[in-house]
Amino acid sequence: MKSRYTIALAGNPNAGKTTVFNAITGSRQHVGNYPGVTVEKKEGFARHNDVELNIVDLPGTYSLTAYSVEEVVARNVLLEDKPDVVVDIVDSSNLERNLYLATQLAELSVPLVLAFNMSDVAENRGCNIDEQALAELLGVPIVKTVGHKNRGISALLDAVVAIAQDPAAAIAKQRRPNYGPEIEPHVKQLTDLIRQRCRLDHHDRWFAVKLLEGDEETARRINRLCPAHTEELLAEADRIKHHVEGICGDPAEIILADRRYGYISGACTESVTQTVEARHASSDKIDAVLTNRWLGLPIFALLMYMVFQFTFAFGNPAVDFLDGRLGELRSWVIEAWPGQGVLESLVVDGIIGGVGQVVVFVPLIMLLFMAISILEDTGYMARAAFVIDRLMHKIGLHGKSFIPMLIGFGCTVPGIMATRTLEARRDRLTTILVLPLMSCAARMPIYLLILGAFFPPRTVFKALGIFNVTNQAMLLFAIYLIGIILAIVCAKLLRKTLLRGEAMPFVMELPPYRMPTVKGLAIHMWERTWLYLRKAGTIILMIVVILWAMATWPALSETQVQTFEQQRTTIAARADLGKEQIRDRLSEIDNAELEAGLEHSAIGRIGRAVAPVLRPCGFDWKISTAMLGAFAAKEVFVGQMGLIYSVGADADEQSHLLRDRLAAEYSPLQGFCIMLFCLISMPCMVTVVVTARESGSLKWALLQVSYLTVLAWVITTAVYQAGSALGM
Ligand code: GDP
Ligand code: MG
Repeated sequence: MKSRYTIALAGNPNAGKTTVFNAITGSRQHVGNYPGVTVEKKEGFARHNDVELNIVDLPGTYSLTAYSVEEVVARNVLLEDKPDVVVDIVDSSNLERNLYLATQLAELSVPLVLAFNMSDVAENRGCNIDEQALAELLGVPIVKTVGHKNRGISALLDAVVAIAQDPAAAIAKQRRPNYGPEIEPHVKQLTDLIRQRCRLDHHDRWFAVKLLEGDEETARRINRLCPAHTEELLAEADRIKHHVEGICGDPAEIILADRRYGYISGACTESVTQTVEARHASSDKIDAVLTNRWLGLPIFALLMYMVFQFTFAFGNPAVDFLDGRLGELRSWVIEAWPGQGVLESLVVDGIIGGVGQVVVFVPLIMLLFMAISILEDTGYMARAAFVIDRLMHKIGLHGKSFIPMLIGFGCTVPGIMATRTLEARRDRLTTILVLPLMSCAARMPIYLLILGAFFPPRTVFKALGIFNVTNQAMLLFAIYLIGIILAIVCAKLLRKTLLRGEAMPFVMELPPYRMPTVKGLAIHMWERTWLYLRKAGTIILMIVVILWAMATWPALSETQVQTFEQQRTTIAARADLGKEQIRDRLSEIDNAELEAGLEHSAIGRIGRAVAPVLRPCGFDWKISTAMLGAFAAKEVFVGQMGLIYSVGADADEQSHLLRDRLAAEYSPLQGFCIMLFCLISMPCMVTVVVTARESGSLKWALLQVSYLTVLAWVITTAVYQAGSALGM
């Protein structure tokens, strides 16, 4: 182990660097100049517990860009002389601004200790800093000092020596700002490329970030260090830079700086309480309201209500319109199709009925994602996550889990993808496992069908004299709420059992508010909509074809078909019946035949086999059959019920008739149980596949399927049995 270390002191001008330098070295110092520039260089010596320390005073800088001689000098010393430890002297009475340099030093991956100097001033101003929490969040040791009173200097040197003895571990522990889903993957990619091409002594990420900022001094340094690859690296950096600027609408340098401030702001909001001094920046003022302990949640709830209101107000007419066109397409195909047959049924019932039903919901999906993107891009979502964080901590999850869950209300699949932003695997797995309980948009058609059939709309009360609160809206709300409550309970249980462990300290970035760009919004909205459409075009299409085949074969035998044919002839020949009556009776026979056919088919048989298991939930074999379809994709449930009750080919009347049939055959309690079971029971197949892929193991996907299905069965059975006992 070395017994002599070089320590560099960095810090903003007037943070008390010279004062601390003097406190450490006493009179053992000499003053010179950095070579070639007129920047004063001070060096000094100290001895601490038998370790010799060589102290270098870096020029005071606010940042590590290349805009001033001081900054370039400081950078060169850090990159070339490689001091054993860097001590950042932070003016803790002006914390957020001073921490900017600290995040850059961490980004440079140098062994770092923070001296929170001016701690007396900070305290006098009523600024209460939880150093321990902040040190954990940043992954860097923090020592409180008062430079001109020699206070904390010895503790500072203890920390310095400890870091000097194991710099690699110190660097590994450091946390660096995450540049968000748009930029971070590119930074990582460029970092990897630099690492492959050049040997830069673990400064690769720093070089990547600086190249993205268009830092020419860094470009020159890369050219010196690995001339063979400079052109490639610069070209790649330039490409990424333009891509990022296109999406975000600002120069890359500014965006990256914003993210760093967001990172700092998040860390400080979690660890600093201001008791006296008023906070100034406009973002801070807005935050004071939006993340307020009492107002935060109601504001969030109101905004969410507006998101859903917006989505449904504009989405539903579009969905109705598309639904109408789909019906026309269906009639047109039926008419234009030469003859009748298996292929026609595949196209009309399978592809148009199944896949079309899914595509029809695209406007809702697009609008929901647009609303969410607006909230994300303005920076509000980070605040919402912050507000929710307080609740999430109680269930052992991080506030960051909340954004994937919110996306899960649109569709579980992109929600699961969004969990990639969670650092800790335990957080990620817990979130993925409970995500299907966020009722996705694909379940909406099921709810709408059931509500329409069993719960005719009626106003329950008028809220604020403006909003008509209907029983349907309340039931829908109840269903969503049940999902959320179950998710909370399950997450808590998972964190107590399978995924036990300390919550990871984690900085929640609070980026500054900004105007979203149209391009950024469009890209976000499109990415997610595309995911949904692709699902409709691939997996759902495949499943629908399979289900259709299972509902078609094995077909009724020749004699069975003849029996129905005979019944028809008999009815048609009856002279005592009027035209109307004959038509009704004939269509009854048609339906009976279709039902018999379905019962006879593969899916009907499976449904019958499963039915005894689902009977306690209040489901007969027909509902059981549709539930099997719903596992393929939730959207299939409605189509499958339609198929089961395939009531005439008239597309317009179909949904009405289906509702009437349901209402005639089942009770409202059974209807509610259908909603409940669809909400909780196993997620759709795509979710299972994505869960397996994202969790890296089939085990978690199987756990997800089985626990949700068991839970659904238990809860639905309990509700049905209790409801029946009460005579509902
Ligand atoms: P530098 O420009 O970063 O080298 O800062 P200096 O060392 O020149 O300090 C600037 C001023 O802050 C001087 O007047 C110091 O006496 C004063 N100062 C330094 N440390 C502290 C401290 O911890 N508390 C207070 N109240 N003043 C300090
Ligand atoms: Mg000075």
